[in-house]
Amino acid sequence: MEEFSFEIVAKDKRSKARCAKLKTAHGVIDTPAFAPVATRASVRSIDPFELRSVGSQVVLSNAYHLFLRPGLKVMEKFGGVSKFMSWDGPTITDSGGYQVSFVWGKGSYGNMAKITDYGVYFRSYVDGSKHFLTPELSLHIQSVLGADIIMAFDQPMGYSYTDIENNIAYKRSMKWEEESYSIWEKRKGINIYGNYQALYGIVHGEKDKKKRKDFLDFVVSMGFPGIAFGGETIGSDPKVTAFVLDAISEYLPEGKPVHALGLGGGPEGIFAAVEAGVDTFDNSSITRMARTGYLFIYPQDGGNRQNKFRINVLRSVYAEDKGAISESCTCPACLNFSRGYIRHLLVSNEMLGSRLASIHNVYFINDLMKKIRSSIVSGSFEALKKEWIESR
Ligand SMILES: [Zn+2]
Repeated sequence: MEEFSFEIVAKDKRSKARCAKLKTAHGVIDTPAFAPVATRASVRSIDPFELRSVGSQVVLSNAYHLFLRPGLKVMEKFGGVSKFMSWDGPTITDSGGYQVSFVWGKGSYGNMAKITDYGVYFRSYVDGSKHFLTPELSLHIQSVLGADIIMAFDQPMGYSYTDIENNIAYKRSMKWEEESYSIWEKRKGINIYGNYQALYGIVHGEKDKKKRKDFLDFVVSMGFPGIAFGGETIGSDPKVTAFVLDAISEYLPEGKPVHALGLGGGPEGIFAAVEAGVDTFDNSSITRMARTGYLFIYPQDGGNRQNKFRINVLRSVYAEDKGAISESCTCPACLNFSRGYIRHLLVSNEMLGSRLASIHNVYFINDLMKKIRSSIVSGSFEALKKEWIESR
């Protein structure tokens, strides 16, 4: 089987939205697609078989966390993260750049991180041990984790940085990503198990259009097999996400897959990203929100931009509610349980509460992606977007 390819099967006429088949050594991802986050080799409270049954095609794991625990020795023994967690589908890992860059202030082991031009010194939150994460180590960790799609090592820009710090982070990311690329190229993209991994370059620049465009030009000219977008602007306000992605979507080369790292903004953010040409995205808040009672609802249930397509099931008004989370949803949680019961479980810290809530939210986003895919194929993406985004 072909180890990695990206084939566009349908395009929207009015926007950059597209449907594609992203082929990896561990299966095909029909895009646009959502990758639930399995930070520590687990999508919290959902097992891999349930993930499949609620429509998930790919998961994203975290190089930084898995490097610290269980560590590379264990990961290598198991043959990588997908075998370790018994997920038989495609996997993505991120480079750890985001995690080490934002380990600020003092943790229980004193100053947690120091960033230099060569890499990041940091202390493990697990046992206080000292580490130096470089492009080379990040690529090695990701080789051992064995994902199909891996990310270049970077230092994302951030709202908490000064302009000077952001400029340094921007330039540093370019340098580190170039190093990541040469290391990956030297091993011809093959990991320690003999499988191919596609390396994505991560475009930075936040709201600065010229910076983003220049970074994109750099990623494209290097020849990375895929393009990722990162930074806080992707994860916050859907309007900012739309602004940032719109500004450069016209420069995206057509034949390369595009991933949005930590894409936020719920359905509105998803429509904005898909419209700008994003093929895959991950987001950990979809399951985090579930555990804190924020559950998605469809436009037919009253979901709209104002309520961000969600209810807070913890509100006392739902205590005696016998209805499903969503009348339009066919997930196992909605088919079998009531808002009142799920609220009770979450309030009582019963594990089943987190599980049912997470299953619903992941199912909901996967179902939205499925609707988006078929609307692109049938030429009705614009109408679907209207139905969701302009509904009241
Ligand atoms: Zn549901």
